[in-house]
Amino acid sequence: MTAQNEDARPVDLTPKRWQCCHCGGTGVNSHGGTCSHCEGLGFC
Ligand SMILES: [Zn+2]
Ligand SMILES: [Zn+2]
Repeated sequence: MTAQNEDARPVDLTPKRWQCCHCGGTGVNSHGGTCSHCEGLGFC
């Protein structure tokens, strides 16, 4: 008899927001304007 414990896996609840790879999370691009990659949020 085989027992399948698929529910024993730890749940990964990491937020799906990451520091923008374009502006580094500042929301501002190198020109001093709003980052077009994250729209000033700092996350993408
Ligand atoms: Zn980005
Ligand atoms: Zn950005």
